Amino acid sequence: MSNELPREPEDKRKAECPYCHQALPRIPAKKTKCPHCGQVMYVRTRPKDRARVVVTQDEAEKIEEEWAIVSGTHDAYVTNKQRIEDERIFLRERFSGRDPSDRDIQWSLLNKDSLKYAQRADWGLYRNARFDMGEILRRELKLRPALEMYLEVCYLDLNGPRNTGGLTDPCLLRQFPPFDPRDAFLAPAVIGVIDALASKLQLDRDSLKRLFIEHNVRIHKALHLPLVPEACWPILEKGVQQAHDTP
Ligand SMILES: [Zn+2]
Repeated sequence: MSNELPREPEDKRKAECPYCHQALPRIPAKKTKCPHCGQVMYVRTRPKDRARVVVTQDEAEKIEEEWAIVSGTHDAYVTNKQRIEDERIFLRERFSGRDPSDRDIQWSLLNKDSLKYAQRADWGLYRNARFDMGEILRRELKLRPALEMYLEVCYLDLNGPRNTGGLTDPCLLRQFPPFDPRDAFLAPAVIGVIDALASKLQLDRDSLKRLFIEHNVRIHKALHLPLVPEACWPILEKGVQQAHDTP
């Protein structure tokens, strides 16, 4: 790592496509499609000279890797990249040779993560993986499955999920239970999303309650959570109402 003072990024962007090198109507300010060749161009700052440049996807990935080295996260970056590539190979085999999409890979890895966290009783991490799955569903406009996932996240949150790292000693587990409703919380951002999705799906409060109970009865049974969904609903309902009333 150098001791140089951080420099202001120097603008080296040009109105030229990095793929086909044709002139562009204007200098790209962000991710843009070339009107000539249809390829997607990226705007990035290079770590070595702090210059802002218009680059191809491959170059953008290279710059991302350079940044990872600079910030000392290169090992994690390589491990993660390797994990993604391994999963791509695994899924390609499962799909009988068809290439999996990035989404397929992400989803599959999150499924594996959830399973691993559940086995180790790392319920805080498990909850985060489920939240990420909700985000994927929401981006894909799978509104109802997304809503169910967020309702599950809230149900987990209200049970106070903890990371126990595979603790098995019964004495310690009594002292540090994997779920403790005294640690219960609700994330305002998640509640806001639930309110917005319920509106989009035209679900009134009773229908939302039914969805919350029906989905989470299964979760309660599978994960042996201390609080039943019926006990959690009034707290969530209050949160949703507050989110709804606050513009
Ligand atoms: Zn082009």
